Amino acid sequence: MTDLLSVDEALGRVLARATPLAAETVPLAEAGGRILAESARAPVDVPPFPSSAMDGFALRAADTPGALPVVGARIAAGRPAARALASGEAMGIATGGVVPDGADAVVPSERVVEHANTIEIPAAVAPGDNVRPRGGDVHAGDEAVAAGSVLTPSRIAALAACGVTRVRCGVRPRVVVLATGTELRAPGEALRVGEIYESNGIMLEAALAVAGALVERLGSVADDDSSQRNAIERALSADVVVTSGGVSVGPHDLVRRIERSLGVEEVFWGVAMRPGKPLSFGVRGSTLVFGLPGNPVSSLVGCLLFVRPAVLALQGASDPGPRYLPGVLAAPVHRNPARDDFVRARGTWGDVGVELQPIAGQESHMIVRSAAADALVHIPRGDGAVAAGAAVRYLPLYT
Ligand code: AMP
Ligand code: MG
Repeated sequence: MTDLLSVDEALGRVLARATPLAAETVPLAEAGGRILAESARAPVDVPPFPSSAMDGFALRAADTPGALPVVGARIAAGRPAARALASGEAMGIATGGVVPDGADAVVPSERVVEHANTIEIPAAVAPGDNVRPRGGDVHAGDEAVAAGSVLTPSRIAALAACGVTRVRCGVRPRVVVLATGTELRAPGEALRVGEIYESNGIMLEAALAVAGALVERLGSVADDDSSQRNAIERALSADVVVTSGGVSVGPHDLVRRIERSLGVEEVFWGVAMRPGKPLSFGVRGSTLVFGLPGNPVSSLVGCLLFVRPAVLALQGASDPGPRYLPGVLAAPVHRNPARDDFVRARGTWGDVGVELQPIAGQESHMIVRSAAADALVHIPRGDGAVAAGAAVRYLPLYT
């Protein structure tokens, strides 16, 4: 493994092969977290009519300041006035009520002195004050949500506000997760000497399900040729195969050889990063095949840096990430001359933004220590140390 790819080059090669799957129509109520496949346009103006932003009185700005008679019933939301407002009149109106024809402003109740049938408006009101114009949020025919967006709660609400009931979303990729290792036992089973609990499969399932994947997790398979061949062959019918373990250089590391014999064309093996260096990526037809190293933190890092972006790109995400956030190191970190480091850290909000304190226990098997971290800090390779207080970028570990 002499030619290690940089993290960026490796990601570029992955995304170059992650062409979006088909799109499907989905009820809006089921589209949360999905990727919008086609630009969604507003079928109506929002707001659909000029509406009042305040509880108060609709009037003509030119009639202020002064005293005006209050005419008609108060305009409630959903109950338009029976007639237009004439010059020299005011009409009571609720927030969300239709501003009547003839009125060009609303004065809030707290800015007037109310008498029995009149109001006094001590200060002048400007035309348009407290009126939400028709189409002020979006005009009919304009784009409400861009193609490639993640349907976050606010975007779901935006589409609902436009009256949209169904949306075109990228099809959810089918992902098979397969853990390799003779030593692996499922949680709940008794451990014999030499065995450990299998934790990568459930982690990868969780990480990829939140990115929209339909994940099938196969049980772990021992390090023998026929077991792994059978499992990998079955897995290769999916859109994405993610294996863990068995991609290093030992005699029990069978995954790459078996994949090659099953027609997987390896795109790269080895990324200049720590943890997670011996990561492999290949393709068979349109199936993307990731071989993550078995150490749990290595698997996590490989998944967040490469597999999750691929899963989002398959759904048509315009920004599949990984999306780094800016932070500040709380303690110095030594740089690795040859490989980018991904350091687990705890983030706290300080005066200068998120301060990232590396956790104790950075070895790649220490998945339990990493539970104390909520950030994966990128320390680019280089000489010396990155000083405390230096600006860095990190990936959140919340999801
Ligand atoms: P490997 O990449 O197969 O050489 O595995 C590297 C280390 O990770 C070994 O200590 C394995 O026991 C451990 N390991 C491999 N797969 C898993 C897994 N699914 N869950 C937890 N630990 C694992
Ligand atoms: Mg192994």
